Amino acid sequence: MNREIIQTYAKLVIVKGVNVQKGQTLLINADIDTVDMARACVEEAYKAGAKEVVVTYRDETIDRFHYQYQDLDTLTTVRDFQIASKLEYFEEGACILNLISRIPGILNGLDVEKVNKHLHAFALKSKKVREYTMLSKTQWCIAAVPNKQWAMQVFPNCKDEEEAVELLWKHILAAVYVDGEKDPIELWTKRDAVFAKRCQILNDFRFQSLYFTNSMGTDLRIGLVEGHLWAGGSEKTPQGISFNANMPTEEIFSVPDFHVAEGIVYASKPLLYNGSLIEDFWLSFEAGKVVDFDAKKGKEALSQLVNFDAGSCRLGEVALVPHNSPISQSGVLFLNTLFDENASCHLALGNAYPTCVENNDTLSEEDFARLGVNVSLVHEDFMFGTADMKVVGTLHDGKKVTIFENGNFVIE
Ligand code: ZN
Ligand code: ZN
Repeated sequence: MNREIIQTYAKLVIVKGVNVQKGQTLLINADIDTVDMARACVEEAYKAGAKEVVVTYRDETIDRFHYQYQDLDTLTTVRDFQIASKLEYFEEGACILNLISRIPGILNGLDVEKVNKHLHAFALKSKKVREYTMLSKTQWCIAAVPNKQWAMQVFPNCKDEEEAVELLWKHILAAVYVDGEKDPIELWTKRDAVFAKRCQILNDFRFQSLYFTNSMGTDLRIGLVEGHLWAGGSEKTPQGISFNANMPTEEIFSVPDFHVAEGIVYASKPLLYNGSLIEDFWLSFEAGKVVDFDAKKGKEALSQLVNFDAGSCRLGEVALVPHNSPISQSGVLFLNTLFDENASCHLALGNAYPTCVENNDTLSEEDFARLGVNVSLVHEDFMFGTADMKVVGTLHDGKKVTIFENGNFVIE
């Protein structure tokens, strides 16, 4: 991809994504294949007034060697400085950008349980760090860049890696509205109004539950937390700085009541969970809890996810994405949740976003638990929306309102 376009993308991510403020420190976690984008982001961040930009690179291929050769004891030892290196900056007011370029299936064939134990140990220790993003205590953003292996998996019919990478670039840029002509920053600002309106409509209804059905066999009723709020598009830190956590984004989302989920849900897209691909799977729920599941591929990884901790077998997010969203219409299966979740209605197993509850700053942990706001060390989206998805909301007085018909909103 040419330099100029990458610079435009970087500026969008810095200005509308993480929205780094004058005098603020920006942390960048960058996958090794994002180096050109990372450099452009560092430059744009300084131009926007960043005091300091701290870049940490990650190499998934090296991670694979660690998982393969380290013993469990070493893998589950998390050093204090690994946490402090981020926490200290956050406490001083830093914001964070994650530049990802993942290789689907990179951990295939490894001992999933070993990988999981490492992730568990790390998640336990980094709870405070994670709160900065989970609770939007600072601005954060995730954006993606292609790599050869990823591109070849998405477009296996390309004649070579170069052609596949260019094609994946094209689709990534289209998904974030960078076309080399119109000003993407302006476009993102305009789209924000659409999200705000959708959220307002749903917030005014105050649904008690949602009922999802389609021809794949999904037949699922989920409760919503009392006082839930729908969110989407840009959000704000407690200091009132707006930012876009995901680039791209097409979803509006809220908090399900973790006590209430009944029925069965069929995934409509594969899920890449920590390097393992889970395909053709379903989950069935009783009283909010996963009671059975199966997958044609990756069942072991799915089992690790469901059994990760006490909260990972319950729902932490429900998101509505119209089937006519541009990413969905492109028909591309990105094999990456950042994109695929924006092509499809999705649910998340695990932790809920407490920011999606009214007056959340006055509520205690007990209040959240009583309301049904789920707690877990994981938060994993999986996609289940289809072109024929129907969503019906039930109000507290029992009245029913159709929200989605044939995969799209019907209440706008
Ligand atoms: Zn989501
Ligand atoms: Zn999510």
